[in-house]
Amino acid sequence: MQVECENCKSLVAFEQNDTGKWVGRVIGGAGGAWLGSSMGIALLGTAISGMLPVAIVGAIILGNVLDDSDEMKCPKCKARIKIKS
Ligand SMILES: [Zn+2]
Repeated sequence: MQVECENCKSLVAFEQNDTGKWVGRVIGGAGGAWLGSSMGIALLGTAISGMLPVAIVGAIILGNVLDDSDEMKCPKCKARIKIKS
């Protein structure tokens, strides 16, 4: 599911992880490409070693997103994202 953040206009992809929590990932917007690639590197780095600094940053971002599992928040600006039905 891809939703545009109304606050920062970033395109965010939401996916449910194994525990059913929604995880947001910025895939567009200003700085989105950098953040998206960093997240990808972070996830990869975490899976392999977890030693890369960018992995730590990514884990923090991901952790913040996971804090509020019932709400979908923009991983970039933390604004609540409403899903248009
Ligand atoms: Zn946003």
